[in-house]
Amino acid sequence: MKVVIATHNQDKLKEIQKKLQNFGWEILSLYDFPEIDEIIEDGKTLQDNALIKAREVFNKTGLPTISDDTGLLVDALDGSPGVYTARYAGENCTYFDNVKKLLKDMNKVPIPNRGAKFKTVMVFKDESQELIVSGDVKGKITREIKGDDGFGYDPIFFVAGYNKTFAEMTILEKNKISHRGIAINNLIDSIKKNCPNYINQQDKEMA
Ligand code: IMP
Repeated sequence: MKVVIATHNQDKLKEIQKKLQNFGWEILSLYDFPEIDEIIEDGKTLQDNALIKAREVFNKTGLPTISDDTGLLVDALDGSPGVYTARYAGENCTYFDNVKKLLKDMNKVPIPNRGAKFKTVMVFKDESQELIVSGDVKGKITREIKGDDGFGYDPIFFVAGYNKTFAEMTILEKNKISHRGIAINNLIDSIKKNCPNYINQQDKEMA
């Protein structure tokens, strides 16, 4: 079975592919559909944006589609950047621009008040179903960058139980505890329950 991941983000794609590798699905992405233009994510919530991406890509490809929209919600900033996480430092900014801006904006915030949460909303869409799940993970925004792996805000997102930032974890470690890893687990459970024909017998036994 072919499944399209509704993203051009190679970093997200890597994490999602890793989680889905045992399902025997052929995983495609927007790189396989160059005719699909950049999708405008103008929803008010992460769920709005995840639905916009899943619907658009399903309508254009006719293939079962998975979308992911992720936000970083920082306590000291009243839940910002939230739905604006990708463009916190402005349109067309880089991951590093966002990290620098967040560290600067939180310069005066003491360690106990640096709590934050990553939240992913994930949608699976086919001709008959629209399954919506989420996953989140709590952590703290560090005072400086730590670690070389991961992407986005990973080098400044510290997970207390692991004593590491996401950027100090392997993709497997991150996937076990991350917002996206949890959302994918929830999505797999929901697919098993609502459309079991997508999961072959061998995978059902493994799960
Ligand atoms: P979106 O879901 O494509 O809107 O992604 C929002 C932004 O959140 C991305 O551009 C990254 O900067 C950031 N982001 C998403 N997922 C992660 C993650 O797993 N770790 C760190 N940053 C992330």
